[in-house]
Amino acid sequence: MRQQEMSSEKPKGDIFVVSAPSGAGKSTLCRRLLSDLTGVGFSVSHTTRQPRQGETDGIQYHFVTRNRFEEMIGSGDFLEWAKVHGNFYGTSRQSVEAMLNDGMDVLLDVDVAGAKVVKELFPESQLIFIMPPSLQALRDRLAGRGTDLPEVISLRLENARVEMAQAVFFDYAVINDDLEKAYQEFRSVFVARRQRLARIRIERPELFCVTADAAF
Ligand code: ADP
Ligand code: 5GP
Repeated sequence: MRQQEMSSEKPKGDIFVVSAPSGAGKSTLCRRLLSDLTGVGFSVSHTTRQPRQGETDGIQYHFVTRNRFEEMIGSGDFLEWAKVHGNFYGTSRQSVEAMLNDGMDVLLDVDVAGAKVVKELFPESQLIFIMPPSLQALRDRLAGRGTDLPEVISLRLENARVEMAQAVFFDYAVINDDLEKAYQEFRSVFVARRQRLARIRIERPELFCVTADAAF
């Protein structure tokens, strides 16, 4: 047993799933986390949605045609996929598994249905729901972001109520009112999860091999 504990076994990364109604600030929080903590990889989804101004293929999403998306469904390339706000979105199985096997934590930005599927596939994954302080704030943020047409904003606001009702299935909730406070709360979930004993034990086995009767 001790031999095993002393081996240089590399811990697999953890999965963190973030969902929110559109406009709650999920992308803002995720972007900051990815530039703040090392060892976290973002799962870049595939989508049939058109790129927004400022989005780059391969960074926020892999932008693909409907035909290509359907081919990928057929080939079993997605861990999960869903139709959200009228467009298709899917999580690449290969990319998530590669990051986990490499010891990276993986951050998934998916809708509530996707979050449920991921939790079923990976029961240890941590589900974080980002709440707006109010529906009015959500409306103001979507309008203020200036990236979506009024009809797209209306659809996203309609869907927001349904998504917020699903928050009860999540492990954590962060209310994004004051951005700085919300970010610290969001970040703390990652930090705490990384400190669990089972993980530190694999990372630093030598510290857990000291016997109680050893002389100091
Ligand atoms: P999501 O990814 O959840 O759709 P974004 O991160 O794009 O949302 O945020 C939507 C808009 O709200 C952006 O313009 C962003 O700058 C702004 N925003 C994010 N968090 C806050 C906050 N706490 N207070 C005010 N505006 C915010
Ligand atoms: P947006 O168009 O604003 O970037 O994203 C719309 C919604 O699609 C968000 O709720 C986002 O979390 C979700 N989404 C993005 N990628 C995926 C994915 O791969 N799978 C699922 N199920 N939802 C996704």
